Amino acid sequence: MTSFRDLPIRDDLKGQEPYGAPQLAVPFQLNVNENTFGIPPEVQNRILTRIQEILPRLNRYPDREFLELRSELASYLGHGLSADQLWAANGSNEILMQIFQVFGGPNASALSFGPTYSMYPNIARISMTPYLELPREEDFELSASYVAAAIAKHQPRIVILCNPNNPTGTPISRKVIEAAYDSFDGILIVDEAYAEFAEELASLDLLKGRERLIISRTMSKAFAFAGVRLGYLAASSAVVDAVRIVRLPYHLSALTQAAALAALEGKDLMLANIEKIKIQRDRIISALRQLGLNPYPSKANFVLCSGFDNPQATFESLLKKGVLIRNVGIPNTLRITAGTAEETDFLLKALADTLG
Ligand code: PMP
Repeated sequence: MTSFRDLPIRDDLKGQEPYGAPQLAVPFQLNVNENTFGIPPEVQNRILTRIQEILPRLNRYPDREFLELRSELASYLGHGLSADQLWAANGSNEILMQIFQVFGGPNASALSFGPTYSMYPNIARISMTPYLELPREEDFELSASYVAAAIAKHQPRIVILCNPNNPTGTPISRKVIEAAYDSFDGILIVDEAYAEFAEELASLDLLKGRERLIISRTMSKAFAFAGVRLGYLAASSAVVDAVRIVRLPYHLSALTQAAALAALEGKDLMLANIEKIKIQRDRIISALRQLGLNPYPSKANFVLCSGFDNPQATFESLLKKGVLIRNVGIPNTLRITAGTAEETDFLLKALADTLG
């Protein structure tokens, strides 16, 4: 049998494996930062109604420019944004890919600060963009002066900052974004997949007058819509026009557009569990401290915790008890998604048993 390794794949992809976290059918899936509360029944009904309405027209291609959805996303974000400043794709991974496709490439370069989201180097590789990841500062923080000096030195075409950062939960201040933007002439992406879990992210305010700034968001996390695949960006209309060069025609299906519109209509219901998740996140942090571990402060819906002598052994022992968390490969750490109170109860008990 031929393996993919025997096929004439691109030279620069040789030796690569497909990327993805394990998908295991265990009762407590706390490994990919989903919103474990699910979709309220009222919104499920709205989604059904919207989809029912478009079924007879599914023989036609969807609205390629999806202006209704872009306009609703603009209203959701506020800050005076308009539809021509919004763009959406199948998850924010695809948003990031489109940005790299249009602004990156072999003659450009991208810079980030790690540990950070592990898809950045993959997206860079797939789009053939040379990628550099510089280390974060003490406790995974980033200061304006450090970021500015690094960007000024390397002069990349693309800088990508994750706010709050996956997998550490660390937010960045507005000053860092301003300083990063002023340090080069390239594209600054601020990936805010977890924005709704952080209290005050004033980054959308910064878009005004900053034509090269892109804020990337997703409905996968706070909106509990990971299965739908709806990511989006807010930027200048010039950036949106540039991205339209690389998007495949009709990339956003009519079903996706309908579901996203229904979710935005029911946004208050969809977002109602954010406070509950933040309570569980903070509860996990204090409980981990009581277990003698060192959780990092987090403004997202997950906690990175250090202090594990053998993280892989702890990971496996939790898995045997039906709890799937994430070993992101940072020495002595594990990452845990915050979900419902019941999930936290079970997780903490399983962890105490494992370590005790
Ligand atoms: N950015 C960050 C920081 C993430 O953690 C994730 C998902 N894990 C994404 C982007 C992509 O999410 P999605 O494609 O579901 O929008």
